[in-house]
Amino acid sequence: MRITQIKAFQPPTPGSPPDWRTQLGQMVVEITTSDGLTGIGVGGGGLAGIHVIETVLRDLLIGEDASQVESLHEAMCRHTAFYGRSGLVVMAISGVDLALWDLRGKAADTTVAQILNPAVDLAASLPTYRTVFDDAETEEALASGFRAVKLHVERFGDDPDVTGIERLVARVRDKLGSSGSLMIDAFAKWNVESTLAVARAIAPYQVDWLEEPLLPDDLSGYQRLMQESPVPIAGGEHEYLANGFRRLMDDRLHAVVQPDINWCGGMTTLVEIYRMAKELGVRVVPHRGAEGYAVHAIAALDQQPLAESPRTWFQCLSGFPALHSGTVRVPTGAGFGLAFADA
Ligand SMILES: [Mg+2]
Repeated sequence: MRITQIKAFQPPTPGSPPDWRTQLGQMVVEITTSDGLTGIGVGGGGLAGIHVIETVLRDLLIGEDASQVESLHEAMCRHTAFYGRSGLVVMAISGVDLALWDLRGKAADTTVAQILNPAVDLAASLPTYRTVFDDAETEEALASGFRAVKLHVERFGDDPDVTGIERLVARVRDKLGSSGSLMIDAFAKWNVESTLAVARAIAPYQVDWLEEPLLPDDLSGYQRLMQESPVPIAGGEHEYLANGFRRLMDDRLHAVVQPDINWCGGMTTLVEIYRMAKELGVRVVPHRGAEGYAVHAIAALDQQPLAESPRTWFQCLSGFPALHSGTVRVPTGAGFGLAFADA
C-alpha cells in the first residue's frame, strides 16, 4: 500500500474562520494509495500548514508504505524538528497522520476504534459536554439533554470579575442540579493570583475543572495552581506531541489533559498520551472530542469517557457522530467513517 498522492486544502465552509490565525482554521488532507484507497484527515495551520505539506511532507511520504503509520509519524517529526516540534507544523502533521489512520482502518475494513481496542463496544453511548458562551446557550444545552456544560468565561475580562463568574457558576449549578457536571474555561487570559481568586470563589459549586487559565508555557504558574487551587486544573489543547504531554504529566502541571487530535500530532500522538496518562493517573478529555476523529480513541481507550461538543461550522465532511440527548456513538464506517459531504 504505497502512497501515490497527497492533497491538502482548505475547504470552503460557510461560517468557518477565514484562516489559521483564528486557531480553528482547518485543512483537509487526502492521501491516495497504490491500491486505490483514499484516507481523509483533518489538521490545522490553514494555508501555512498546507505549505508545509506541499513543500516538505509530501516529498517525504510519496512512495512510502502507508501502513507504517508510526514510523512515518516519527519521520515527519524528525524531518521538521529544527523549525517544528509544536504549533502549525505539528498541526499539519496531525492531518497527515489522521489520513494514514483512516487508510489503516479502510485497508482492514474496520473502524479505527476497533483497531485501537478490538473489544470496544461500538453501540455504547458516550457522554458529552456542551461548551457554552452565554446564558442563552446554557439554557439551550440543558433543554436539549446535556447533563454537562463548560462555561466559557472570557467575557468576564483578563482581570476577571470574580463575583460575576461566581454568580454565573451558582446560577448554572442551580439549573443543572447536583448530578450534572460543570466546568469553566478561561482561555489563557489570567494570572496565578486571579485564577486562585476565581477557584476559591467557585469551589463550593462542585466544578469539575478550571481550564487553561494561564498561557501554555507558564509551567511554574501551573505548578503553583496544582498545589493551591481547590478546583482541578485542566489544559493541553495547545500542547503538542508526546514530549509536550509527558512534561505536563510528569511534572503534575494539569489534573486533566485535553489534547486536540487535529493539532497535537494526530492519532499516533493521542494513543501515546492515553498510554502515559493511564500510567500516571491523569484524566484525558480530548478537546472537541465529539467530532469525528478523537471519538474513536475516547470509545476505545478511555476509562472515564467524556467528549466535548463539536464545532457546528465544520461541514465539509459527512459522517460525524450525531448527538442524541447529550451523547454520541462512534461512526461505524471503515476508518474514521467520514466522507466528503458533497461526495
Ligand atoms: Mg478550552
